[in-house]
Amino acid sequence: MNGAKLFFIVDPENGAHMLPDDDTGLVCPECTRLLNCNYINPKFKVPKKCPDISHTYDGFQVVSQKFREIIETEGYQGVEFISIPACPFFLMRVTNVLEFSRPSELKFEDLCHSCGRYASVWGLLHVKVIVPFSGVCEGLYRSDIEMGYRQSIAPILIVPEATKLTLKKNKLTGVEAMPAPV
Ligand SMILES: [Zn+2]
Repeated sequence: MNGAKLFFIVDPENGAHMLPDDDTGLVCPECTRLLNCNYINPKFKVPKKCPDISHTYDGFQVVSQKFREIIETEGYQGVEFISIPACPFFLMRVTNVLEFSRPSELKFEDLCHSCGRYASVWGLLHVKVIVPFSGVCEGLYRSDIEMGYRQSIAPILIVPEATKLTLKKNKLTGVEAMPAPV
């Protein structure tokens, strides 16, 4: 299916932190960006009334059991769910990548001399998603560029219109969709 119509899924912050108070060794000492993307805090719990998809203050995207079940029922490939020991939610990792064009409005700022990454990447409203020649099948995708500020820097979740409708039809909460320029 041709995926010319794409949407960014802008999920809400859930008010929790994944990282412990002492985050030594887990984040870059200079820019505070995450060093170990596989880290899971064994004591982490989502707040009550957490949406089906949301992210922590420190940029970890978490989804509910219901969200996971719908993705698996639909047979979307390239999505991993990692159990969180202390609560019935999952870290979601999407391995399907779509590239952003790199217009001059996209800002990479504060290059960190310790970890070699930028502490601030912004300009989402100006980027375009490069649609591959073969189109975009139903499913979940992530942007190649991670955006945000320091610890909250994360890839942007991108879906074609049919997938957005599936998420909406199943009444998953936290699914705020915004048209993605292509
Ligand atoms: Zn750094």
